Amino acid sequence: MRLILMGPPGAGKGTQAKFVAERYGIPAISTGDIFRKNVSEGTELGVKAKEYMDAGEYVPDEITNLMVRNRIDEPDAEPGFLLDGYPRTLQQVEELDGMIKYTGHRLDAVVCLSADPEELVKRLLARAQTDGRSDDTEDVIRRRQEVYAEQTEPLIEVYRDRGLLVEVDGMGEVDEVTQRVLAALQDVRES
Ligand code: ADP
Repeated sequence: MRLILMGPPGAGKGTQAKFVAERYGIPAISTGDIFRKNVSEGTELGVKAKEYMDAGEYVPDEITNLMVRNRIDEPDAEPGFLLDGYPRTLQQVEELDGMIKYTGHRLDAVVCLSADPEELVKRLLARAQTDGRSDDTEDVIRRRQEVYAEQTEPLIEVYRDRGLLVEVDGMGEVDEVTQRVLAALQDVRES
């Protein structure tokens, strides 16, 4: 399975990605997690990414694309992968198309988690208390939502037109949402 998990900041992508990836025995590849790891290790990539992340802006495409390309080339991603937080721009969609085509495979589905914007702000502010992520302040959260609406929402139509979009309600308990996502993907596999 080659899957994408999309949705606005706070929709629960990271949480669901882990369950879905485990279910299919594929790695969950989170660009946000990879960036944060690089920031905490103080790598060159981390130093470059940090200023964008802290401002709620996207890291430039050329940096992000190269990072994903390298990650997808790892042997554990050979049988498939679930991308969490990538692609987020039309340019990243094109790049990913190229990467997948090169391996002779195709994308199976794009799961989009939907959620109410005010509920999302609440969730992210709650996460700020527990996780202390430097981009979970109210101003930065609002900026991340704007950037998502401007740059990433248009991708939903792109994948809908390709017949790959699977929309899942992301509101409710974590395991309810997981069950919805898994059921929707089961339908994809059977169709
Ligand atoms: P969020 O919950 O806001 O979606 P993530 O943990 O997925 O957060 O990502 C955190 C930050 O990492 C983003 O705000 C952005 O700066 C950067 N980032 C993650 N994925 C991408 C991407 N595909 N393109 C550009 N920047 C990205």
